[in-house]
Amino acid sequence: MVHKVFEEFYFATEEQIKDIKELNDFYDKRKEYSHFDGKIFCPECKKARLKYVPKSHHKRSYLASIDLHEHMDDCSYKYEQVSQKKIRLYLNEFNDFEIEDKLESMLNKLNKESSRTTLKAGILFNNNEDNPFLISKNSSNEQVKIKKSIPQRNLKFELKEEDVDCIFLFYGDVYLSVEKEEKERNGEKYWIHYLMITTKENRKKYKIYRGSKKDNAIENQLYQIVLFGFFEKRVLQYQVKKIELIKKENSPHPNQSALIFREKILV
Ligand SMILES: [Zn+2]
Repeated sequence: MVHKVFEEFYFATEEQIKDIKELNDFYDKRKEYSHFDGKIFCPECKKARLKYVPKSHHKRSYLASIDLHEHMDDCSYKYEQVSQKKIRLYLNEFNDFEIEDKLESMLNKLNKESSRTTLKAGILFNNNEDNPFLISKNSSNEQVKIKKSIPQRNLKFELKEEDVDCIFLFYGDVYLSVEKEEKERNGEKYWIHYLMITTKENRKKYKIYRGSKKDNAIENQLYQIVLFGFFEKRVLQYQVKKIELIKKENSPHPNQSALIFREKILV
């Protein structure tokens, strides 16, 4: 795992964030993409130029930075992603309050990003602001701070086989509902709950085990959600894909603090 994969890009001509799928469709039809050439930028900082590489026989299409230095300093696409080993160690250091706090800052950042979709490159960017999607560590000589980005996936995109069993910060604009299931243990009945997720775009469906926790979700209300989790290979075949929340060290139970959602404020 190296740099964050571009699933979206900023299209300067229309001042909009678009999916790579749109570029693929365009290319498939016309076998050229001059309409986009030179007008595609990093979806986060909107400053770094991207190049599009159409699919070949062996490789799927992708977007890549032309020059990593062009990203703003706090753009998470500028940095390598932390390894899976490191992200596990990093998350283990948090207690429940700290993890919720971290997720809150991520929601704030995502909200700010979506509200400035129509703004031009870097206008609102504040370099002093700490990006919650970045982890900084002092290098061995304590002189330079090394930044790495937390692996993230937008729920609106297909889960990929290469991401099986990897921890990600999953996020997205979603609709929510709660399903419950009756269980019995030692003759006593009890309920367990699942948070059901449908993404606003692409209508992807997921379910998250919540145990005794019953989320308070209003139907047809648009929410922004963030969670630390992973998925198993077998879920790829299902329509509704189960994502597991991360577990605490030495605990078999999903950490129910590793998920928060908030009403999406439309601007
Ligand atoms: Zn960038």
